[in-house]
Amino acid sequence: APQSPVPQDPALPVTTPSSAGKKWKDDGTLRLKKNLRVWVLTSEFNWIAGTIVSAEDTEAMVRTADRQVIRVNATRLQPANPDILEGVYDLIKLSYLNEPSVLHNLDFRYAQDKIYTRAGPVLIAVNPFKKVPIYGPANVLAYQKRTPESSHPHVYMTADSAFKAMVRDGTNQSIIISGESGAGKTETAKIAMQYLAALGGGGGLEDEILQTNPILEAFGNAKTLRNDNSSRFGKLIDIHFDKVGKICGAKIQTYLLEKSRVVQQADGERSYHIFYQLCAGADPDFRERLHLKSAKEYRYLNQSNCLSIDNVDDAEEFKRLRTAMNVVQISKEDQELTFEMLSAVLWLGNITFSVVEHDNHAVVDENEAVKVAAALLHCDADDLVTALSTRRIRAGGDDIVQQLTLSQATDSRDALAKAIYANLFDWLVERINKSLEAGKKRTGRSISILDIYGFESFKKNSFEQLCINYANERLQQHFNRHLFKLEQEEYTSENIDWTRVDFEDNQECLDLIEKRPLGLISLLDEECMFPRSSDLSLANKLKEHLKGNDCFRGERDKAFRVCHYAGEVVYETNGFLEKNRDLLHADLLQLLASCDCTLPQLFAASIGEGAQKLLSPNRRANGTESQKQSVAAKFKGQLNKLMQRLEGTEPHFIRCIKPNTSQLPNIFEQELVLQQLRCCGVLEVVRISRSGYPTRHSHQEFGSRYGFLLPRNLSNQEDMLSVCVSVLHQFGISPDMYQVGITKLFFRAGQIGHLEDVRLRTL
Ligand code: ADP
Ligand code: MG
Repeated sequence: APQSPVPQDPALPVTTPSSAGKKWKDDGTLRLKKNLRVWVLTSEFNWIAGTIVSAEDTEAMVRTADRQVIRVNATRLQPANPDILEGVYDLIKLSYLNEPSVLHNLDFRYAQDKIYTRAGPVLIAVNPFKKVPIYGPANVLAYQKRTPESSHPHVYMTADSAFKAMVRDGTNQSIIISGESGAGKTETAKIAMQYLAALGGGGGLEDEILQTNPILEAFGNAKTLRNDNSSRFGKLIDIHFDKVGKICGAKIQTYLLEKSRVVQQADGERSYHIFYQLCAGADPDFRERLHLKSAKEYRYLNQSNCLSIDNVDDAEEFKRLRTAMNVVQISKEDQELTFEMLSAVLWLGNITFSVVEHDNHAVVDENEAVKVAAALLHCDADDLVTALSTRRIRAGGDDIVQQLTLSQATDSRDALAKAIYANLFDWLVERINKSLEAGKKRTGRSISILDIYGFESFKKNSFEQLCINYANERLQQHFNRHLFKLEQEEYTSENIDWTRVDFEDNQECLDLIEKRPLGLISLLDEECMFPRSSDLSLANKLKEHLKGNDCFRGERDKAFRVCHYAGEVVYETNGFLEKNRDLLHADLLQLLASCDCTLPQLFAASIGEGAQKLLSPNRRANGTESQKQSVAAKFKGQLNKLMQRLEGTEPHFIRCIKPNTSQLPNIFEQELVLQQLRCCGVLEVVRISRSGYPTRHSHQEFGSRYGFLLPRNLSNQEDMLSVCVSVLHQFGISPDMYQVGITKLFFRAGQIGHLEDVRLRTL
């Protein structure tokens, strides 16, 4: 077989377009030429199509799509792809992998409801915000049988590859879904689950698995300004299959539920769906026993001016939830306990305080709320009053009772409500897991689906954003390493010359966050141990110890900046210490321990060891807050486990994209999409691909497409590879622009465009 005479030039910069050859000048700008089709950058994120009508060295006159002729500097021009590549299903097929071309390709497809596009090994899913008729049993069957209609990229295709690989190789698989809030992650995860349930169904367990979705969504999703059904937790579900590919069990792991939402929501947002569902849907008997009122009567629900969601009937949803709980075999008693606790949380929120004028401390208003809350919690109303308004501290061997101020008392009430809800959530997940894996043995064949919050960068970023972005750094590292590995494996199996190009990884940012003892998390945990620490002392400590890391920059006051792979984020340390400690005061823990119901058990499962001791009977409060693992440390541990789990799988990546912020169909906002493409690393994949040979054609494909351009004696050669090589020579494609593999030809970006131009002119 003919070898490519010149190996890849290792000195070639990987990110500049110069790898596209003659199209580019040494400074990286486009070599301007009459008739060249281009994208013209008109404002920061907006490109329009055009054709060069006359060119000088650094400027060109361009006729734009709306027939105007404008003068444009070369730096604002990018080459456009030939017509034949319009709307290709895989971005890797584009000759020019520049941002406007990628955007245009997605937009073009989206306009035809082709919401799925591949970026090489990654599936891009653009949220349609409307029903697209590409799901359901008939489509499942098509993808399963791999009929011609099923050749379009689809979540089904991704799930199918995972399933078939698992059955064929007996290896664990994962489907890793990311994207920003409202991009469609949860829907995509459900679509993948439906496909797997259809393929692996038959044993009955598939219904249980699918019915976990409405349960978790009721308790963990809420209406936010970005998404009417926003998941406020991360989720991994492992679905286990037996030897013949039937589902035999499942396990759910959740991450970082946003519990502040239970007591407080931004204007126009809601608390968790379950509260409104319960208030709207409980039958009269239930209402009476649980002392339920309508949602607008509860302080925790009526403060954000948003009680309902368009096109959602909470009462109807409650019925679906009850059905789902039954399918998942959550017992009647457990269901009742759950609703009782939810009602207790709502009533806690209605407890009010008055300030005693002369010494500025708060007393609980003795009204209906306290009595009902205590009744629902099965504790003594006086104990509840005491726990909410006072604090016992130990000083010099004596217990001293301290009266709380109004804000301390309010905080302690809210802390109790949040703790009950968060523990209820964890307990429910455990209950579900028990049902899903009862009596099932592990077979070593599984598909894990990860639906986790994407990178976040807001005007104000706090502890939650740091955790979320940390998780995304870990996932990005996994993503890079894997894709790079795949790329190299293909080159190796095709036996082509390939100089390893090291890509920039995000290890430095990860070190910044998780290195011990001098990383963000360690320093934060350390500061949390000091009684006199404050958010300011934390900020100063971080600035002092981390200034040597290139990904870190101290900012004014209590802020610091982190350079994430997806962009820079400024964090404010306000509330960091408290959120990381996440402690419930010993008095409140003792109150919970005294409850004459299953509540203490519910807590025992999830709470740290120190707290468990406090929960044991006859133990006197020592006045300190219980010691337990910090939130960041716990999250880091969970992430480590998650990554370990994922590393043992063959990953399939899906990147969800939100095309507009209005949650409306048929609107594709270029700037918004581009920002996500940049953030979620799709352009990184493209960049990695560009550094190698993104365009691939089998010898057969290439020879039959371009062979006719050759003189007859050359085009008639028997051997297809010889035809290919003759085409390459005839059209002067520089040897460093391609490689000949065993079954495929590999091209650098931008090579086929020229050949295609010639072909079109000849046709
Ligand atoms: P995320 O989990 O990324 O925050 P969701 O999966 O909740 O986003 O999607 C937000 C909304 O977008 C959904 O409630 C649904 O209305 C719509 N949506 C997402 N994916 C699809 C899809 N494939 N088909 C139709 N609608 C979708
Ligand atoms: Mg979601």
